[in-house]
Amino acid sequence: MIAAALLLLTLPSPKLKFESSSIAPLYTTLRTLSLQEKGGDELGLSAGVNIFRELDKGLPDRMNRGARGERVAQSPEDRSVRDLYWTALDAFVLSSTDVQSLDVRKEQLADKVGGYLEIRPVIAKIVEALKVSQKAYESGQAEKDAKLVAESVKWWDDKVAAQSDKLYGWLESLMGIEDAPKEIRIIAVPRFPAQGAATFRTVEGPVVIVGCEKFQKADFAEALIHETIHAMEARAKKIELLGDLRAALREAKAEPFTEEQLPHTLFFMIAAEATRKFIDPDHQDVGQKIGTYKRGLEPFRAFGAPILKDLIDGKIDRHQAVAKLSAY
Ligand SMILES: [Zn+2]
Repeated sequence: MIAAALLLLTLPSPKLKFESSSIAPLYTTLRTLSLQEKGGDELGLSAGVNIFRELDKGLPDRMNRGARGERVAQSPEDRSVRDLYWTALDAFVLSSTDVQSLDVRKEQLADKVGGYLEIRPVIAKIVEALKVSQKAYESGQAEKDAKLVAESVKWWDDKVAAQSDKLYGWLESLMGIEDAPKEIRIIAVPRFPAQGAATFRTVEGPVVIVGCEKFQKADFAEALIHETIHAMEARAKKIELLGDLRAALREAKAEPFTEEQLPHTLFFMIAAEATRKFIDPDHQDVGQKIGTYKRGLEPFRAFGAPILKDLIDGKIDRHQAVAKLSAY
C-alpha cells in the first residue's frame, strides 16, 4: 500500500508519445506547398496542391465561433477566417490514421462547420488530393521526409527523453500545472504551414503536430515544449500561471489581443528557458529566430521578460508575477 501511494506521489510528468501516421506527411506537405507561391511541380505533386489551392479559395469568409461570436474576414487578403477553417480541417484529417478511414469518418460529420462550410464535400476533395498525389510522393519525396522525421524523433529520444521528467517537473512547479495528462500524443511531420507547429483538440484528446524541416535540434525541443503546454492547457485541471493571468487581464479589461497573446508570449519564453536549462544553454528563442516576436509579440516579450526572470529566480511567487504581468 505504501509503495503504491509513493508511486502515485511521484507519478512522472507527461510522456511524449510519438505516433506515426500514414496520412500526415503527404497531407501536411500538400497543405504547406499550396500556401506557397510556387510549389509542388518539382516534387510531382501539383495535381494535389492545386486541389488544396482551389479549396482554400472556396472557403467562406465568415465563421460563427459560438460564444466567441462571428468572425468575418476584413479583406480578400485577410486569412484569419480561412485559417480557422483550416484548423478545423487539419484537426479532423490528422486524427484519421489513413485515407480510407478519413473517407469513411467524414460521413459522421455534421453538415456544416462554423455555420457556413459544408464540410463533407471538402473532405471528399482532400481525399481526392491525397489519392492523386500519393504515388508521386511515395516514389519521390517520401523517403527523404521519413528520414528527416526519424532523425528528429531520435534526437529527442537521445538528448531529451532522459530528462523529460525533470523538465516537465520544472514546468509544473513554475507554472502551477495540476493534473497534467500522463501522455501527450505527438505527430512529427516533415513540414507544416504557418508557424510550423500546432496543437489540435480532437475528440480523442489533444494532438501536437510539429514540422521537422523548420525546427531542428534545440528548436525542435522548444517547439515541442511550447506545443505540449498548449496540450496541457487543454487537458490539465489547471495551469495556474496562465489561468490566473487570463482572469486578471479580463478583470483589468485588457484588449482581447493582449488577453490572448500576453500569456501565449509568456509560455513562448518559458519553453525557450526550459530548452536552455535542460538541453542547450546557448539556445536562442525560436520566437526571435523565426520572427514570431516581431509579428506583434515583442512588446509582451519586453514587458514580461524581467518579471519571468524574477519568477524563475524565486524572487517573486506566481501571485506576484500575475499581479505584475496583468498591469500591462
Ligand atoms: Zn502557441
